[in-house]
Amino acid sequence: MARGVELNTESLKNMMPGRTPTVLVVDDIPENLDILIENFRDEDIEILVALHGKDALRLVKEHKPDLVLLDIMMPGLSGYEVCKQLKANPELSDIPIIFITAMDEMDDEAFGLSLGAIDYITKPFSVPILKARVRNHLELKMKTDLLAKLACLDGLTGIPNRRHFDEMLKKEWSRGIRNGKPMSLIMIDVDYFKNYNDTYGHGQGDVCLQKVVSVFQTLLKRSSDVLARYGGEEFVVVLPETNGEQALSIAEQLRIGVAEQDILHSHSDAAPYLSVSIGCATMQPSSESESAHLLELADKYLYEAKKQGRNRVISESAIP
Ligand SMILES: [Mg+2]
Repeated sequence: MARGVELNTESLKNMMPGRTPTVLVVDDIPENLDILIENFRDEDIEILVALHGKDALRLVKEHKPDLVLLDIMMPGLSGYEVCKQLKANPELSDIPIIFITAMDEMDDEAFGLSLGAIDYITKPFSVPILKARVRNHLELKMKTDLLAKLACLDGLTGIPNRRHFDEMLKKEWSRGIRNGKPMSLIMIDVDYFKNYNDTYGHGQGDVCLQKVVSVFQTLLKRSSDVLARYGGEEFVVVLPETNGEQALSIAEQLRIGVAEQDILHSHSDAAPYLSVSIGCATMQPSSESESAHLLELADKYLYEAKKQGRNRVISESAIP
């Protein structure tokens, strides 16, 4: 390489443990695809290929690749059009796109970047530079993905946090409107948790919350159930496609599950062991109501459960 420049072409393998980055390569000329595939053969990345724009859009939707290397001049949908469509789709707009093209005018590059592409590489390209750029963009994508994931999780328990719960609740509510099935929400509060912390220390309090979460995780068997930390010692469970009777049964299992751990709590007025109070609400999602109403209901029943002496589940059927 000129002037002894050494580009870091170390394998991409260690970039994101447990995940192999996927790159979609789009070009209407098979020989061009072969060159790109050949150059990335020794890297630990999964390569997908498309010979035209329509196929590229389909593969992006199906596989959500970490990067798209996109030719511009193609029969049918041009690379510009593919880029526009991907950037207009909120589910796909975060996927970085690099144009690889023979169109080497500055105006072409400016136009390509204005469409939202992250980079623009002209043919013929230098293989080490292409590889270094692909590597940089993949690294950035992996870090962005990791940050997005961390931003949704509660640091102590590793379950979704309040922010993620708010999003999930709205999403499931919309789904409930579409499928016409009832949806339930469980709100849980650890009884006399302040006393627990005061008695056993905050470190032990943290361990206790982790234990409670692990009990819930074991008991919530359906992949559609979303358990989240609502704040402090409060937890919520979104139960899509679940009627009141089913939700009540699940809530009762959660309450018993915690009680059966027999975690000593000498300063609880509810029981000699650690217990939880639960409010359980069910609604048929509709466009006339809002998911916030379901949350308010669950909160109201939780309040009632506490008022009635804690260590119990209260749902609509139990309200006089
Ligand atoms: Mg072409």
